[in-house]
Amino acid sequence: MELLKQRILKDGRALSEQVLLVDSFLNHQVDVKLMQACGEEFARRFADAGVTRIATIESSGIAPAAMTALAMDLPLVILKKSVSSILKDGIIQREVFSFTKNAPYLLTLKTHFVTPGDNVLLIDDFLANGEAAFGGIALLEKAGAKIAGVGAVIAKTFQPGMDKLRAAGYRVEALAPVKAMSEGKIEF
Ligand code: 5GP
Repeated sequence: MELLKQRILKDGRALSEQVLLVDSFLNHQVDVKLMQACGEEFARRFADAGVTRIATIESSGIAPAAMTALAMDLPLVILKKSVSSILKDGIIQREVFSFTKNAPYLLTLKTHFVTPGDNVLLIDDFLANGEAAFGGIALLEKAGAKIAGVGAVIAKTFQPGMDKLRAAGYRVEALAPVKAMSEGKIEF
């Protein structure tokens, strides 16, 4: 997606060979119009996939996932990274290792919000090692859903997540596949 790639080149910053900072339009401040364009692009790419529900992981996946849900006119469910005291009944959890926090957390889904037989499109901001995506998929499948695909706004294709998901049989679409990075340099 050219618009997104240009924005990454303009405002993104490779902090190292592994970490890309895009907090001025995706992770902290959010360019809602750009997210809307991302949602429309996901809707176009997955138009033939029979999607019945969008899922994402809080918090940075919410903006692009909400825009995808809007473009596809589908419900959105947000997988939680922390559990509040009011979220008790009917929850399932899975430990996921956080790329950015370098620590595990419990990804949580209230099964009430997934209907068995749902065909879910999982949207996230980044795809790196695939931990978050595989954790989300495990919870959604446990709740009885099928996975229509995984959509990443940015996929660092030099890290193993994308290949691992495809090898496991999942369809993956990345709007901006990053081939390589080094400090101050980003290659698509
Ligand atoms: P994975 O679970 O695929 O290893 O990593 C995906 C998650 O880690 C995403 O949800 C995202 O929040 C975070 N992440 C991974 N790589 C990056 C990165 O380079 N920059 C930022 N800002 N977040 C990342």
